[in-house]
Amino acid sequence: MKLYNSLTHTKDEFKTHTPGHVEMYTCGPTVYHFAHIGNLRSYLMEDVLEKYLRYTGYDVKRVMNITDVGHLASDADTGEDKMLKGARREHKTVMEIAKFYTDAFFSDCEKLNIKRPDVVQPATGCIDEYIKIVSALLDKGYAYLAGGNVYFDTSKLKQYYVFNDHDEEDLAVGVRDSVEEDQNKRNKADFVLWFTKSKFEDQALKWDSPWGVGYPGWHIECSGISLKYNGEYLDLHCGGIDNAFPHHTNEIAQSESYLGHPWCPQWFHVHHLNTSHGKMSKSKGEFLTVSLLEEKGYDPMVYRSFCLQSHYRKSLVFTWENLDNAKAAYDKLIARIAALGDDGELEQGAMDELRVAFRAAMDNDLNTSMAVTVLYDVLKSKLNDKSKRALLDEFDQVLGLRLLDRAAKAAAPKAETASAEADPEIDALVAARTAAKQAKNWAEADRIRDELKARGIELTDTKEGTTWKRI
Ligand code: AMP
Ligand code: ZN
Repeated sequence: MKLYNSLTHTKDEFKTHTPGHVEMYTCGPTVYHFAHIGNLRSYLMEDVLEKYLRYTGYDVKRVMNITDVGHLASDADTGEDKMLKGARREHKTVMEIAKFYTDAFFSDCEKLNIKRPDVVQPATGCIDEYIKIVSALLDKGYAYLAGGNVYFDTSKLKQYYVFNDHDEEDLAVGVRDSVEEDQNKRNKADFVLWFTKSKFEDQALKWDSPWGVGYPGWHIECSGISLKYNGEYLDLHCGGIDNAFPHHTNEIAQSESYLGHPWCPQWFHVHHLNTSHGKMSKSKGEFLTVSLLEEKGYDPMVYRSFCLQSHYRKSLVFTWENLDNAKAAYDKLIARIAALGDDGELEQGAMDELRVAFRAAMDNDLNTSMAVTVLYDVLKSKLNDKSKRALLDEFDQVLGLRLLDRAAKAAAPKAETASAEADPEIDALVAARTAAKQAKNWAEADRIRDELKARGIELTDTKEGTTWKRI
């Protein structure tokens, strides 16, 4: 499988430290608010990647942090802790906020069919880990104490800007106009590993440390949690593209300095979901949630298929019109699957040809829109219905569109729209007509209606399904 690697800027052959096993890490959400559908685009595409790795036979261990401390309102180690801001907004404690929005995040993930990682670790649960790493970095001379805080000294590295497409001057925190420079830093790019002094003295959560009572910087939590659960050799690190700098750059700096050897050779970054005003962001407060989509009548699977239609390395513009197009396509796909029967024996030989096409799409840097096209190829193929169903179900283990589940629901509207009189034979004919309509087999649908009419049955088509009565 070829996967674009942000470190090398090329599509590289995917490799792992231990053959057949993937150690995977994902930067989790900052739980001070609901996740917006932009955040969820990142988790959704990472989910497809994880599921595809499993599909191809890898055993995957996926670890995710939950940021419940240390993520400040700006990248520059200045500003208020986001969690504290959330707690103040809602007149709750930081821990109440963290619990509520962590649960909300996993409920959104469930709705979008995003698998829960094998390990989910709140950042506040690994303080000893961070203290161990920061102490070692101080001992090795990669860190220094200034003004009560511990900083990472980026001048000690041969190469700090590892995702080397950055313009160093533009990106160095502190030279951006909007950002206030921290006078304690020896170098502009240095960052805080442990705070004991902040302008915001009301930080709710603090822990004892060799450098005084304080709290960890944001970046150290991901290094600490990954090293604890994934071990010294991480195979694959994921996140949204905005995390590449400074967050991931700093994770690499501190992890490799601590370990004394390379840490993670493969970096997977998902590009942004944008609105017409730019990047969807929590801090701007302008964002859409999964619940809002549901309130407006969209199945979360429609959003999933909307994301799969575009490549993860391209930014994706959200408009209601684009979502409606995705809905129309998804509904049609489901209707076609609902019309499939279940006859025949599995035709493994012919199924293999389509498996090759599916894998070719996914092996090409996770080309999910091409993989979705293969679903249509399955439907168009000469395979019998049983084989089509089996193959669609198999590919859906990776794509996660809940195809067969939604198709079963689409094929059963008559249950909810029971007619005044029960007659299984008429019900079966009505269902067959619905399936024919969904498959755009208008001739068959008309034939069944005529047959029913000849038997004195009148049909009424409603949004919820078809009802019948005797005339
Ligand atoms: P946060 O909860 O702010 O820590 O972000 C959680 C994840 O969502 C991170 O991996 C971010 O890089 C990612 N992310 C943030 N905004 C967007 C967006 N508009 N589109 C896609 N991913 C995003
Ligand atoms: Zn992280």
